[in-house]
Amino acid sequence: MILYKTIAPLQNKLRQLNKTGKTIGFVPTMGALHDGHLSLINDCASINDITVCSIFVNPTQFNDIKDFEKYPLSVENDILLLELHNTDILFLPSVEEIYPHGLKPSIHYNLGYLENILEGFYRPGHFQGVCQVVHRLLEIIKPTELFLGQKDYQQCLIIKKVTELFYINTKIITCPTLREPDGLALSSRNRRINTEARKKAPALYKALNYIKNNITDKEILILKKNAQAMMLDAGFEKTDYTEVCHAETLQPVLQYDPATPSIVLAAAFIDGVRLIDNLLIN
Ligand code: AMP
Repeated sequence: MILYKTIAPLQNKLRQLNKTGKTIGFVPTMGALHDGHLSLINDCASINDITVCSIFVNPTQFNDIKDFEKYPLSVENDILLLELHNTDILFLPSVEEIYPHGLKPSIHYNLGYLENILEGFYRPGHFQGVCQVVHRLLEIIKPTELFLGQKDYQQCLIIKKVTELFYINTKIITCPTLREPDGLALSSRNRRINTEARKKAPALYKALNYIKNNITDKEILILKKNAQAMMLDAGFEKTDYTEVCHAETLQPVLQYDPATPSIVLAAAFIDGVRLIDNLLIN
């Protein structure tokens, strides 16, 4: 694995590889790597000649500065893991390298309806920051394929929209969510939950499954209420949202129709840590 901290030598290398017709797969991350990230790397490496991973904790996507300050860092361990898992190139830029003109955005991304619902509603400005960094990384790396996790479902739709808005010729591949044996979705944030709360955290996944498994029998409004109660009873402090949406548009689904691709998504706090998860229904 070759590690680049700056853009110019990375682009030199990528140009050489492009000339020889190699396909380039890209997996952007914020580090604190776990098996979920590594599954994206493996998927990428299995269908691309070259796998590029980036580690960059993007300051512009944190609407809460405390969340940014608390973000777990484990770069040395991450480098080891990437070396063991088929990564050819690691891009580990500084904030100055990504934002040479400062953090203030020069573009406002026109994301429409997707921007201010669900995650966007509870994390104002978050998706503008995500677009800012991913757009910049795509311009630097110009990958053939971009690998994203379904765990951040709304983010996948938003990044797809950015590639359409800017005619970026990169194919987006959405990879399944990796889970612990008890169902909890792997997340860098899980490291911040204490042992007691960790035992209760799978209630989020259980609540999503409850909605998915009962959607044909009960009204969605009742299912959502019951699911929220399940999480709170299990020990979650607060739920931000529990929603059933159209899987392509994220418009709310009020009446379930098996012919409509649907998804159930939720966000909730346990031990002060905000967890998100989702399940495709059909
Ligand atoms: P992050 O480092 O949290 O920005 O995540 C980097 C990428 O890994 C994103 O595309 C995430 O959706 C993806 N990811 C995070 N958790 C998981 C998981 N449990 N399974 C699969 N992919 C994941």
